[in-house]
Amino acid sequence: MMTKSGASNRDVKKINRIRTMRSIFDCDRISQPELAAKVGNSWPTVLQNVKELMEMGLVQEVGTFESTGGRKAKAFAPVRNARYAVGLEITQNHIGAVLADLSGELVRFERKKRPFERSDTYAAMLAELVQSLLAKEDCPPEKVLGVGISLPGILDRDEQTLVYSHALGLRNVPVEEFSRHIPFPCRFINDANAAGLAEFRGQQSPRSVVYLSLSNSVGGSIFTGGSLYGGEHLRAGEFGHMTLVPDGRPCYCGKRGCLDAYCSAKVLSDRTDGNLALFFDGLRAGNPDLQAAWNEYLSYLAVAVNNLRMIFDCDVIVGGYVGGFLSEFGAPLRELLAQHNTFEPDSGYLKCSRYKLESSALGAALVHIEAFIQSL
Ligand SMILES: [Zn+2]
Repeated sequence: MMTKSGASNRDVKKINRIRTMRSIFDCDRISQPELAAKVGNSWPTVLQNVKELMEMGLVQEVGTFESTGGRKAKAFAPVRNARYAVGLEITQNHIGAVLADLSGELVRFERKKRPFERSDTYAAMLAELVQSLLAKEDCPPEKVLGVGISLPGILDRDEQTLVYSHALGLRNVPVEEFSRHIPFPCRFINDANAAGLAEFRGQQSPRSVVYLSLSNSVGGSIFTGGSLYGGEHLRAGEFGHMTLVPDGRPCYCGKRGCLDAYCSAKVLSDRTDGNLALFFDGLRAGNPDLQAAWNEYLSYLAVAVNNLRMIFDCDVIVGGYVGGFLSEFGAPLRELLAQHNTFEPDSGYLKCSRYKLESSALGAALVHIEAFIQSL
């Protein structure tokens, strides 16, 4: 039988099971009546789903809640360690690695300096990193859903081929080149999409959010109706190559005037020997040259952020290396945004990212967790 919306009974059952799972995973424990209210189904329907989730080992019964009238209500809790996923973030000079549990919480994060090279040694090192991460948390291999690999580049639709990465100097590389020693399912994800996914997870679905990443390159991602908007060629959110200044500064992409040439973290860190933290130390110390550079940087950033707000009319989360410093140094940006905005007197829509260096690796792990939940 089909419902009015076109969804079959099986679809409805699946949606309800996933909603039950998410409702339990949102809390440490939840009582039977609270759960039924939250899912919005009758208790017998919810109970059937809870039973199935318990059989899968994803949910457990944890005693009872005292309720009014002396009746005891059953309580349920998530089994967060029922599954895990690993996320790797590969950049030009570093590797980040995250272990996340089934609720998407970060269990462990490690980051080390290791320049990227296209070699079997590098691929073997990635596998060792995954194994050592699992060993440190006593995580058995049968609980591992997969490994997400975040990269700065454009991917093919199947997320199994890296089409182009300027930062890594790669074209048309299959995921096997990275995953050949890793004994789990692996898939690629664009770094800004991954970081945006990690940030988006903290928002109430199905809100729309735009994520702008200000790292050594500028990127971003767009979440609408609860999911990532990829565009026709999976290049949506490449905000770094929006033209900000006609015939402006040269961009690494070969064009001129791209946002990247004005707002990448390198624009700032180039002034302090490549060390971004030193740039902000200088700001704290009142260095007038660095202050002037920061003001100029923010004047361009404000144009970009205002444009994103005008296009998407939703929260704009600013992350990446520079985003990590905005809660401390972002006040002038908020003033500029208020000045630019045609419709709003303030910049309340601008949000600083929740995660810092771990965001892309965490997002890469979340891809596997989300796929598992959708398969329930
Ligand atoms: Zn460009």
